[in-house]
Amino acid sequence: MGKIITVANQKGGVGKTTTSVNLGSCLAYIGKNVLLVDIDPQGNATSGVGIEKADVDYCIYDVLVDDLDVEKVLKNTNVENLHVIPSTIQLAGAEIELVSTISREIRLKRALEKIKDRYDYILIDCPPSLGLLTINALTASDAVLIPVQCEYYALEGLSQLLNTVRLVQKHLNHELAIEGVLLTMLDARTNLGLQVIEEVKKYFRDKVYKTIIPRNIRLSEAPSHGEPIIIYDPKSRGAEVYLDLAKEVVTSG
Ligand code: ADP
Ligand code: MG
Repeated sequence: MGKIITVANQKGGVGKTTTSVNLGSCLAYIGKNVLLVDIDPQGNATSGVGIEKADVDYCIYDVLVDDLDVEKVLKNTNVENLHVIPSTIQLAGAEIELVSTISREIRLKRALEKIKDRYDYILIDCPPSLGLLTINALTASDAVLIPVQCEYYALEGLSQLLNTVRLVQKHLNHELAIEGVLLTMLDARTNLGLQVIEEVKKYFRDKVYKTIIPRNIRLSEAPSHGEPIIIYDPKSRGAEVYLDLAKEVVTSG
């Protein structure tokens, strides 16, 4: 049975999309069946796996707001075993339109239930907010993966996120677990990065992944080519570390 993991942090630019795309494609690369669900209206995960806007007739918006059959939005990607449910800018309206709909928090959960068994992993890339889209993702998920950027104020805002996780656990999804905290964009040349690692480990203890994602220029170039790192530059440090993370996620159950 598929495990659904939400990648969430309401801070922008911490590596959510980079992690969703590259963890997802590395899991696919090691033979898992993976679905990537883009619920950020910016659609960076969608374009990151090579889907062009012009090729998207229907997106996750139609599923969440208009009850379109989820089968109609599934797309193949340039990675074998990796499928995607795309998002478009249309999704920007969903946050408000969903407010007045019935069962507004469980729409994504219902949609994914039908196809969950086909996949080993379903990864959901969240927008940088704690609104209804992120709530839908957390409600649909078995676990949440929190990317934390190795910079000043790394822990800032995390209490809000954890509070939202607790509320969802209490009212919408008792099974939701914290999958892990992923340190991203480490610049190992600075003391700051090492201090942040210490601080985050003190707070989250064994929830912190052993794999730490360093800053890697190839990781930042890959999206503009519409390719996950495992295709764009499989020999790069970025590809290596996301493969390590994929293996860590698999062995941690
Ligand atoms: P989020 O989805 O949380 O907003 P992104 O994954 O889009 O964050 O990352 C923000 C920016 O940082 C992007 O331009 C991305 O290419 C870049 N980036 C992310 N991770 C790394 C990394 N490990 N090394 C270098 N650049 C990175
Ligand atoms: Mg993003």
